[in-house]
Parts: sequence; C-alpha cells; structure tokens
Amino acid sequence: MARPHVVILGGGFGGLETAFVLRYRLRDRVQLTLVSESPYFLFKPNTIYIPFGLEPERLQIALRRPLERRNITFIQARASAVDPEKQTVFVDGQSLRYDFLVIATGAGMRPGEVPGLQEHAHSIWTPSDMLRLRSSIGDIVRTAREGKRVQVLFLVPPNNKCSGPLYEIVFMLDTYLRRQGVRERIGIVYTTYENSFIQAFGPRLHEVVSREFERRNITGYTQYVVQEVTPKSVFYANGNEIPYDVLITFPPYEAGIRFTGLPVDERGFILTDPRTRQVQGYPAIYAVGDASDFPVKQAFLAFLQADAAAEHIAMHITGGEEFRGFEPVSMCIMEMLDTATFAQVPLVLESPVAQVRSDADGLYKVGVSPLWRLGKKFLGLYLPFRFRAGNPFHVGLPWRIIEKGMKLMSGLLAR
Ligand SMILES: Cc1cc2nc3c(=O)[nH]c(=O)nc-3n(C[C@H](O)[C@H](O)[C@H](O)COP(=O)(O)OP(=O)(O)OC[C@H]3O[C@@H](n4cnc5c(N)ncnc54)[C@H](O)[C@@H]3O)c2cc1C
Repeated sequence: MARPHVVILGGGFGGLETAFVLRYRLRDRVQLTLVSESPYFLFKPNTIYIPFGLEPERLQIALRRPLERRNITFIQARASAVDPEKQTVFVDGQSLRYDFLVIATGAGMRPGEVPGLQEHAHSIWTPSDMLRLRSSIGDIVRTAREGKRVQVLFLVPPNNKCSGPLYEIVFMLDTYLRRQGVRERIGIVYTTYENSFIQAFGPRLHEVVSREFERRNITGYTQYVVQEVTPKSVFYANGNEIPYDVLITFPPYEAGIRFTGLPVDERGFILTDPRTRQVQGYPAIYAVGDASDFPVKQAFLAFLQADAAAEHIAMHITGGEEFRGFEPVSMCIMEMLDTATFAQVPLVLESPVAQVRSDADGLYKVGVSPLWRLGKKFLGLYLPFRFRAGNPFHVGLPWRIIEKGMKLMSGLLAR
C-alpha cells in the first residue's frame, strides 16, 4: 500500500521540527518531502550576536545532509501556490501531490508601512541587516572616541510581532559601549507602541525592562506610536518628536508568502485551528510557526506548533487517539551581554492578541541572572547539534532532561 506523502514547506524551526518529529514517530510509515528556498537552516535567535562580532556562517546548517540521513526528500525551490482541491502544491514550475501539507514558510517584513522607516532605519531582520548594524556600531564608537555625542534611538512600530530581540539589542549595545569605554557620550532612547515593555510577556517582563533601563541610563517610552521617520527625527502620534543620529528598528511583520486560495488575515498569516494547527476549512493542510496566525512569533512557539501538527498527522496515519494539541507556553532567554533574563510565559489566545494566562501563576516565571547566559549558550549549541543529526529538538529523553534542568534552574533563579 502507498505510504501517505507529507510535504513540508520551509526549512526553519517549524519545518524541520515537523519533518524530524514525523520521522521519529512514524519511522518508514510515511513519505516525507521538505521544500525550502534556502539551502540552509538559519538559527535566527543568535543573529543578535552578529553586530557584536559573530560571523553569520556560524549560524547556518546545510539542510541536505540531515534530511538525507532521515530519508526525507529535499527540494530546494520556492513554493508559490497551493491547490487544496487537487491536494497539490506548486514549486518552481513543478507540482507536488500531497496527502498532508505543512506550511512553515515564516514571516517577512513590511517596513514600507511606516513612512521613512525603510530609508532611514537599521533593521534587525536578516544577517545582512545585522552586518550593516555592526558597521554602524563601529562608526558610533569611533565618533564617540573623537569626543562627539551620538544619539541612538530604538523604535518598535505597531504590527511588529516579536519585539524581544530589539530589547536584547538595546541591552547588548549598552553593555558593549560600556566595555568600549564610550557609553557616557552616547544617549540611548527606546520607544515602543506597546502599552508596556514586551507587552505580550506581561507585567513581570515590564518590571525587569524598566529596572534595567533605569540602571543603564536608557530613556524608555511606551505608547509611542510612530507616524513618520525623517532623516534626523522620528515623529509620534502623541505629538512628540525625537531626534536621532542612528535609528534601529524591528519593522512590522507580514507573511513570508501569501498563499491565495487559503484563508489568511490582512497580513497574509494563515488562519488555523488553534489546537491542531489545521488550516481553517482544509483539514489536510497545517500551518505552523511565523507563517500561521498565532499573534506572537517565536521559535519556541514554532516548535510547539510543529509538535502539535506532527502529532495530529501521526494520529491520522496510525489511527491513534491521544492528542495534546498546541498549548502556547513561550520560553525565552533575553541576552544582555553582562546578564540575561529568563521568561516562561503561559499565553492565552484572545484574538487578535495573546496574553499572559491569568490562572497560571506558578507557570509564569521571570528571572535575571548572568547564569541564564549559560542557558542561552547551551541552546545555541544543542539545537544545531540536534538538527545536524536529523533529530527533532523538542522530543524524547534529551528534551525531558533539559526540561528538568530548566525547571531546577528556574526554581532557583526565577519567580
Ligand atoms: C533577530 C531575531 C532574534 C530572535 N530571537 C528569538 C529568540 O530569542 N527566541 C525565540 O523563540 N524566537 C526568536 N526569534 C523569532 C524566531 O526566529 C522565529 O519565530 C522563527 O524563526 C520562526 O520559525 P519558522 O520556522 O516559522 O520560520 P523561519 O525560521 O523564518 O523559517 C522559514 C523557512 O521557510 C523558507 N521559505 C520561505 N518562503 C518560502 C517559500 N515560498 N518556499 C519555500 N521555502 C520558503 C525559508 O527559507 C526558511 O527556511 C528571533 C527573530 C529574529 C529576527
């Protein structure tokens, strides 16, 4: 009997985790094909180190070998359209039939939505953006050493769906400039449209960020909604204008690719069943990670969604009945170079936003300690190790051991 064919679009966190979990759970009971326009997996969370010296190649994993190792067909191509009625996906001129399709094509940026943003601000989206930022930071240090003042302005505009990395960059920049001995000549201002700092992660993250801003002499403003960016100033809807020499932003999000014929929101994110990740109205298609409509875009959440989609597909194929589904608990470590903040945040979807679950006090944990930097370093080694070997990240005994370790650490270093 023909084995069911699962086609996975995207070779990022969501796509690779889905592919490896399916192989791990179903062994040879399924035929797997992964399509990605890039030949590499990119470990995006650690691109924050590029402006401070890390070379981007260190964050790439070539996809071919780990996929071959797990007998997963790899097609390096761009998927352009899906015909759900014919169960076919179009990939660089060829069509592929699927029994199940998993879309994990990630997000893209829409800086043009804010007048002047694209022209005048540094973005932190791609490794190339991060290299440009590195060069600009070099200029800042040189200018400050000549005895001149420099004003650096950070900006989170509405519709950015993952503000955490911009907070990491501001704290890392502060630490880096102190180490270069030029911090006192550099003014740093942070503005966000959010009602509180890192709003999606609730009041405890806001407290940590406010405390760190004060300790580091960074001026922070919430509810500053950008209206326009000019070459030397940012204008806000509340009537304020803030001048800058260097402007750093994380632009508004949109879907990486808009699939016509599938239900999507106004930004192209695919509408899903929150638990199973099935696309609304199309039970054989799943969407996971940044490509889907879950409002917080994060690698850890992409893993959880991939696990749920893979489990659901496996249940269909094996006829099993046990299914946990996607429960959004975000976990992240925010780097600051001199210390780090750990956050475990149980979320509840209150469309169109996600909020901290009010009934999950024991699960909601935040802590600041230099020891969390070791956790970040460990994940930066462990995850590429798993993917290089063709193994899922979030499954099996190794993950259970890590989970125990995290529990122990967060018991001691977070509250
Ligand atoms: C600077 C930065 C720091 C971050 N830090 C963190 C962090 O600390 N913790 C955290 O949890 N999250 C973090 N994130 C967010 C995290 O990186 C994303 O949420 C995660 O990458 C989403 O995974 P994904 O698989 O959905 O998409 P991606 O990782 O973006 O992968 C998408 C894949 O799809 C492929 N693709 C795209 N279009 C097509 C197409 N049409 N056809 C075929 N293939 C296609 C791409 O080549 C890629 O392989 C950070 C993001 C950035 C930018």
